[in-house]
Amino acid sequence: MKKDTEITLSRRRFLEYATTLSAVALGSSYSMFNNNSSHSPMNHIAGTEVPPSPAILTPKTITLETNAPETIIRQSDEQVPEVVDVTEAIEKAERQRMLEKVQRFDEDLEGDLWLSEQEWLLLQSAHSKIERVKNYVGYGHFNILSFDEMLKYAKSVTSIGAFDKQELVLLEANFYRDAADLGFMGQKVVDNLTNQVKKTNVSKIPGSGHYLFKGESEEYLKALQKKIGDDLILTSGVRSVVKQYQLYFQKVIDRKGNLSRASRSLAPPGYSFHASGDFDVGQRDYGKLNFTAQFEKSEVYKRLADEGVIRIRYTADNLLGVRYEPWHIRMV
Ligand SMILES: [Zn+2]
Repeated sequence: MKKDTEITLSRRRFLEYATTLSAVALGSSYSMFNNNSSHSPMNHIAGTEVPPSPAILTPKTITLETNAPETIIRQSDEQVPEVVDVTEAIEKAERQRMLEKVQRFDEDLEGDLWLSEQEWLLLQSAHSKIERVKNYVGYGHFNILSFDEMLKYAKSVTSIGAFDKQELVLLEANFYRDAADLGFMGQKVVDNLTNQVKKTNVSKIPGSGHYLFKGESEEYLKALQKKIGDDLILTSGVRSVVKQYQLYFQKVIDRKGNLSRASRSLAPPGYSFHASGDFDVGQRDYGKLNFTAQFEKSEVYKRLADEGVIRIRYTADNLLGVRYEPWHIRMV
């Protein structure tokens, strides 16, 4: 049921996107029509140069001979199928463009959004403070640390250092910006920057350093491990907004400030379903390959697929602008 909502929302965003582009295309379609006006019967009727549209589309604004309106109507009628074709073509082209982005997720692509020089420096200083908070509170606890707790630690522990005003502005901007600006078309999962993961709602999964939400997520991991065995491990569970900042900023730094490229591998803060139940699985001793398309070649994945129990959030043909993630289990 929730899956349908997700698809509907994604579809809606995609259509909004496509419609905007269609509107632009419609404009250019009319321009093309006007540019060809020398072939239009209008010229012969008036015997002079006819001003370009919108005059053509709004005949009341010009004085014409009696047979003129008929001609105009026919011209308008002729335009209708052309417009529909353009919309379809745009949607098809946009779909193709999104699929190409998913394929080439780890390249710098045309239209990518980059940090400014000043933002680049701020993001790095904010990230190093976030890292120091992580080291201070410990890897496990950091997974569920709230934004306010992070600020508190930074302020009270001298070796971390409080976030300054500009860093806070950058953090807020990166949370409240519409990720569609980066080309990330997934939905927002956490609306509030200061959202807190309730400790009573999560269980720490032994040996993993990660947490899962009690109930469905925890039960699903147990069911998977029962089917596949101990070779299936939890590689990432519940992530607070802070944890998502740490991962996303690290990716932005690794990708030299290309926000769009980072967002194709990691959901921007507030957009990760790890905040609402999704989790990542891997194969024991498979290391970093667990987070690459190579995971598909692991025994664990093959068995998950054979058992028909794998639920992938970001499929190879997703239209959300996100890489293929066969390890990421969709729960909501
Ligand atoms: Zn994941």
